[in-house]
Amino acid sequence: MEYEIIQINERSWRIEDNGVRFFLLAGTERALLIDSGRNVNNARDIAATLTDLPIVLVNTHADGDHVAGNRQFESFYMHPAEEPNYRRGDRPGTIIPIQEGDVLELGGRRLEVIHLPGHTPGSIALLDVENRILISGDPIQDGRIFMFGPFRNIQTYIKSLEHLRKWQGCFDEIWPSHGSVPVYPDLIDRLREGAQAVLEGRIPGQAEEVFGNKIRAYKLGFATFLCDDTENTDPAKP
Ligand SMILES: [Zn+2]
Repeated sequence: MEYEIIQINERSWRIEDNGVRFFLLAGTERALLIDSGRNVNNARDIAATLTDLPIVLVNTHADGDHVAGNRQFESFYMHPAEEPNYRRGDRPGTIIPIQEGDVLELGGRRLEVIHLPGHTPGSIALLDVENRILISGDPIQDGRIFMFGPFRNIQTYIKSLEHLRKWQGCFDEIWPSHGSVPVYPDLIDRLREGAQAVLEGRIPGQAEEVFGNKIRAYKLGFATFLCDDTENTDPAKP
């Protein structure tokens, strides 16, 4: 299926790529591609049709549906805790490490890095400071949040959502990689409470198969957590 480019405002675009979206945010000096797609392998070329500014890439994390176009970049920003996830397979390129508190300056538009481990160890969100938008990657969304398999940790995920309270009041909208866009800050507490309920076994899960993995789906009504299907259905078990 073809991808679709949707302009959000004068300096922001989202590119819908078969169930995942990535973003292009322009400042006055440079443009930031946030993730590089699932099926497209030419995210950079797509971005270049939208802006004349130099284009740099940051990855919210390194799951396969967020890095397909990375090979068009010699280097890109990524949290260093994400490197083991990225280097599965033969994914090329140089990681420019970014940590929480780092700011990507686009010219009149600052993107502050917030570390949100749990979905993956190096998952980050980016706060578009001037525009009061949080680009959240996978941890905050109303679709299916993958919490099974290697690199996931639901306790760490819950801690990350608590940690995010530090930025409460700094954003009005959230632009996630999956599900609806935008979503709103009230979703964060609901996800935290939902994950806690899943962790404590207070929500029944349904057995499902996702990409050949037998998993357990916890449908909360506002999002679904997909967790390991351990024999005692304890999602806390690694
Ligand atoms: Zn994803």
